[in-house]
Amino acid sequence: MVLDNVFTGYADPQLHAEGLFINGKWVAGDGIPVTDPSSGNTLVEVPDANIAEAMSAVDAADAAAKGWRETPPRQRSEILRSWFTLMTEHAEELALLISLENGKALTDARGEVAYAAEFFRWYAEEATRIPGEYRHTPNGAHHILVDHDPIGIALLITPWNFPAAMATRKIGPALAAGCTVILKPASETPLTAYAMARLGAEAGVPPGVVNVITTSDPGPVSSAILSDPRVRKLSFTGSTGVGRILLAEAAKTVVSCSMELGGNAPFIVMDDANLDAALNGAMVAKMRNGGEACTAANRFYVQSGIHDAFVAGLTQRMQALKLGAGYDAETQCGPMITTKAVEKIDRLVAEAKERGAQVTTGGTPQPGSGYYYPPTVIENVPTDAAIAHEEIFGPVAAIYRFDTEDEAIRMANTTEYGLAAYVYSRDITRAMRVGRGIETGMLGINRGLMSDPAAPFGGVKQSGLGREGGVTGILEFLEPKYFAVEF
Ligand code: NAD
Repeated sequence: MVLDNVFTGYADPQLHAEGLFINGKWVAGDGIPVTDPSSGNTLVEVPDANIAEAMSAVDAADAAAKGWRETPPRQRSEILRSWFTLMTEHAEELALLISLENGKALTDARGEVAYAAEFFRWYAEEATRIPGEYRHTPNGAHHILVDHDPIGIALLITPWNFPAAMATRKIGPALAAGCTVILKPASETPLTAYAMARLGAEAGVPPGVVNVITTSDPGPVSSAILSDPRVRKLSFTGSTGVGRILLAEAAKTVVSCSMELGGNAPFIVMDDANLDAALNGAMVAKMRNGGEACTAANRFYVQSGIHDAFVAGLTQRMQALKLGAGYDAETQCGPMITTKAVEKIDRLVAEAKERGAQVTTGGTPQPGSGYYYPPTVIENVPTDAAIAHEEIFGPVAAIYRFDTEDEAIRMANTTEYGLAAYVYSRDITRAMRVGRGIETGMLGINRGLMSDPAAPFGGVKQSGLGREGGVTGILEFLEPKYFAVEF
């Protein structure tokens, strides 16, 4: 059993999940190695679902759909609430599992489990508040009633960087709305999804309501699922590139899409910012999850008057971080997810250096086993360097200098992304003015952490479509139904 064996050691072959989770049953298999990023060793293999197995998950979700949508909201709510409780009770095992397969520091993994579980608690509460509407027609002669139906079977595709939270942020509202789901976690981090499915079953989620499939060939498998007319929703979190492919696929059957895609967050520090607060916020916005977050500060724009003090302070804090295996208690920054991720970071830093940027700490990958890149600060980065335009997705703070507010806003907006942004200033009017000028779905004002289950999470421009969390999140899984009534 996955959770038990986390304690017996990550090298234990019994850590192998029992298989695909379809219709409440485990379907054994192998074919996808899950790697420990701190060593490069294979932890276990998980099943590699083929199209027929994926379609049996759709059949299961379909068979369960009527029963689940007709389950009273209060009962759906209580099941979600029990799932929250079980996740909380098993928080330490889940955190260790996340740390093992993703590499993140245990402190980050614990934070993720708490955040992930909160989506079940929040949507347990929202399940009983599904909105409706009544009004007269403007001529006063007729009646308008608007109900909300569950949208239907949902395909949920999640990334590896938050293996628990990206799944609960979708499953919570989907189940609260009365939808049944097929979850396709990232191949790098499937164990957390299996462990959560097990807890869901224990919480009383009926067979077929939540199905989990893993596949090494997500393109054809997701196309097959999306081409089935019973599937009415795609909720995707991942890169903008894959999001574009999936939007084109979903267009074939006009499936409703929620897209949580890439980011390139600016972090703006004005001259009048509280330096300590800005540095604390910068460390959270940059280093949560070792920089592997879509909301991670990717570009630090620092006003000339505070620039040098900010660079010195950030360098000192980044230098002090302890790099190591995520599951070592001392670790503050774990390994990256893959060698490819380290190579990308290395390429971006090397290109910036060639173009004149200076490294104040870090700057070269750590040799040896495991996928490590040290906490790094680079300053005087040219604004047209690749690192200013691509997601770094690693522990590298790239710093740019600016003089005027307009310049900061203009630089912040020179990106196809618009997910998150941060502004630090003691003058709240000024911070709000700068913030209003930035094209973004979310803005941290004197805060380096914005994610909250009660808030609408999502981006503008090519960072996505729709919102997850908050009162809006459930609407992504509901379809308004208008009754024109004569009485
Ligand atoms: P990815 O796009 O490579 O993969 C995401 C998921 O899509 C995985 O489950 C993967 O197996 C699957 N996938 C890949 N190709 C597919 C295809 N052709 N068809 C169907 N599914 C496919 O992203 P990643 O590397 O796992 O995650 C990192 C990216 O996710 C970053 O760009 C990050 O910004 C983004 N992200 C966004 C948010 C958000 O809320 N906006 C949150 C976390 C991560």
